[in-house]
Amino acid sequence: MVNPYHLEQRQTLDLIRDRLETVPEDRDRLLEWTAPYRAFRAGASDFLDRHFHAVCTEKCFRDRLSACCSREGIITFFADMAVNVLISDAPELDALGAVLDVPNEGFKCVYLGDRGCLWRIKPIVCEMFLCDAALSAAFDGDPGAAARWEALKEERKRFTWPDRPVVFDDLETHFMAAGLTSPLMYLHNSPGLLRVKQRAGVASRPFEHRRSDS
Ligand code: SF4
Ligand code: SF4
Repeated sequence: MVNPYHLEQRQTLDLIRDRLETVPEDRDRLLEWTAPYRAFRAGASDFLDRHFHAVCTEKCFRDRLSACCSREGIITFFADMAVNVLISDAPELDALGAVLDVPNEGFKCVYLGDRGCLWRIKPIVCEMFLCDAALSAAFDGDPGAAARWEALKEERKRFTWPDRPVVFDDLETHFMAAGLTSPLMYLHNSPGLLRVKQRAGVASRPFEHRRSDS
């Protein structure tokens, strides 16, 4: 049987796809609004490829012993799903839906295919997870790279941590304003994140009322 974890991801995937198919003009607007975030992700991805590809291949991927990509080991935010749907084609999204429709009997993440992650832009939690062994192997003797990594972690907050207006909140708000809701909308339903917003005095507002570079 498909478990609730997969079910809520499947429902969210379908909800976003349906919305973008029904209101195609939304796609262009959201692509524009998410461009700064996608540029951040491209930079982070380049950095990680440069510094961690060899380490991770050596330590984990050859024997598939990785601490990354474990079964049901990730948090997927609504915005992760929305951004990925925006830039993926139909066969890629069909593939994501298909793996969610069958029970996961293995011990790895359901999205892990033979050639790696099935997401075009993987969830932010996955992208930014690095084990201690990888960090020390990659940054040993390279203080510049370590500093760049710290800068990327700070930059991530500009898009995801709701002590200020962030695109992760905006995307949820935008879809909610259209009457859609998902359990993955953690910036609207996680008590901890709601407290962060409350303490910072941040009120969720639709994208239309935000500057496009926030
Ligand atoms: S970050 Fe660590 S656990 Fe994950 S693939 Fe790299 S070496 Fe393996
Ligand atoms: S979504 Fe992708 S990167 Fe994240 S755990 Fe699953 S396979 Fe790994």
